[in-house]
Amino acid sequence: MSVDAAEIAKFDEQAARWWDPLGPSRALHDLNPERLAFVSERTALAGKRVLDLGCGGGILSEALAKAGAQVIGIDLSSEQVSVAQLHALESGLDITYRQVDSATLAVEQPESFDLIVCMEMLEHVPDPSAILRDCARLLKPEGDLFLSTINRGLRSFALAIVGAEEVLRLLPRGTHRYAQFIKPHELARGLRAAGFDVRALAGLHYDPIRRRAWRNADVAVNYLMHGKRSR
Ligand code: SAH
Repeated sequence: MSVDAAEIAKFDEQAARWWDPLGPSRALHDLNPERLAFVSERTALAGKRVLDLGCGGGILSEALAKAGAQVIGIDLSSEQVSVAQLHALESGLDITYRQVDSATLAVEQPESFDLIVCMEMLEHVPDPSAILRDCARLLKPEGDLFLSTINRGLRSFALAIVGAEEVLRLLPRGTHRYAQFIKPHELARGLRAAGFDVRALAGLHYDPIRRRAWRNADVAVNYLMHGKRSR
């Protein structure tokens, strides 16, 4: 199990305002349609058994459920799990949320998911490769894994830490640590080592003033990656 208790405590604290479009997860709300589009353009969702790993308050889980997927969301923050459960009730969506780690779930339900999404989460764990290995165990053969995280470099430092936390106050101070950011080639290497083929890479961009998100080939800051289990 790869987990940083201090990180989980930060997300516990933010949970109450998770669904506030102006709260600490404001950027996630605005990025969500583009994240969903990346997934749904690459695989069918209706009827699929989907795991949202590190689901937080369920922003992406709910969008996937609305697209017809059968969603299980897991997170180690008990506060986030409670918020996710309450919000799904309010939305009238049938989603299962649990406070369980991916290694435990992999023992309990091996090879049982068609698709896993794990977004904006790997930069908060001590050993991202361990999570990727759990994903390989959780997925059915040829299952799809969709990741998003933040690149490590000058522009991501300037935008994701200085810009977002210090200048615009878009994210609470201390949300991200530069050393935890992951270069795309490192993530691709981790995926291959865990038994995945890398199928796609896309940059994910955000204009916090206009609150607009878009994708293109520039992966210097936020990016999405699609892996397919190959063994
Ligand atoms: N994936 C969601 C939330 C991102 S915030 C979204 O993009 O909308 C990151 C989440 O990962 C937090 O809720 C945090 O509690 C969770 N998390 C961090 N480490 C984790 C781990 N090892 N296992 C499961 N969840 C974890």
